[in-house]
Parts: sequence; structure tokens; C-alpha cells
Amino acid sequence: MLRFPSGRAKPSLAKALERLPLFTGSAIRVLFRDRLCARRGRLVRRPPGIEVHAAAMLRRRRIYLERSLLRNPLELRRILIHELFHFVWLRLGNALRRRWELLLRDEVLAGARGELGHSAECRKDALERSALRTRSNPWRRYVCESFCDSAAWWFLRPARHQEFTLPRRWRARRARWLARLMERPALPL
Ligand SMILES: [Zn+2]
Repeated sequence: MLRFPSGRAKPSLAKALERLPLFTGSAIRVLFRDRLCARRGRLVRRPPGIEVHAAAMLRRRRIYLERSLLRNPLELRRILIHELFHFVWLRLGNALRRRWELLLRDEVLAGARGELGHSAECRKDALERSALRTRSNPWRRYVCESFCDSAAWWFLRPARHQEFTLPRRWRARRARWLARLMERPALPL
């Protein structure tokens, strides 16, 4: 499933991946970098750009992680799961993706604030009023990031985190949805 460098990172990564479901699909390489910088959605070697902790290259089947995450096991697990679920989202199929979208739609229509990670929250906060109706690209990106953040939250529970800001009743709904997904014999990666 995942190929990662041997050496010091190996036990930390093995721990970060504990108790995850079975995944199917060809291997994904995990690589560490001292600094990661993204510009217009692509990783670049040096600034200008935005510093990021991680990035998933879906076509090249690679996950890049900032090396400092190795010093923080909880954050390594949270961010690695988030990146892994980008691959799951890609192969999840339209029916399930649409069901997740409808779950979020109910939340937004009910005025639910907060999210389960910064990636989703900043996209949610930037949505225009018409996003839901038009299913605009920002809306679709939010739906995807929310799925990945929620999956990471689901596996981290009951740990607390400052980025888990979604109110309890909405978390419970997402937890039920995700529990059904994780019951599957395997997830596509
Ligand atoms: Zn993401």
C-alpha cells in the first residue's frame, strides 16, 4: 500500500498508520522534505509560495510530508490520513461522493459553522452564497477537503485538536456516515 523510506521515519510512519482499514490500489510513495512550499497547487523548490505541511500528488502516487512532523506523532497521523484520503476520494465513485456532498449541504443550509480541520474550514469560510446552488469549483474543493479532514478526525477520536471546531451534533452525523464507509472490506486507494 504505502512505500516509505527505511530508517528513522519507518517506526513513526508504521505507528501513524495503525488501525486503518485495508486499502486496495497500487503503491503510494511517502517522501519527507525539510520544507514544503506550494504555488498555484503545485509543489515548488523555493519561495514564493505558501508553506504547507504535506501534499498529495495523485497521479504520481506520492505523498510529501514535512520532516518536522516526525516529532509530533498525533499530527503526523492526522496529516498522513488526510493525504491518504485524497486518494480514496478520487476513487470513491460518484454515488458516495454525492452522498457526502449532500451531508455537507444539509449542514451548510442549517447554518453549521466550524469544521474538522483547517483545510476544510478555510475553504468553507471562503464559499460564496451561490456555491451550494451552482456546485462551483470552490464548493467541490471544500467537499473534498472536508472528506479528508473528517476521515482524519474519525481515526483520531477521541483526541482533541484545536482544528476540530464543528459542533457535536454535526460531528455525530459525520461519524455515522464514516463508520459505514470504514466497515467496507477495503477502501480504494
Ligand atoms: Zn487536502
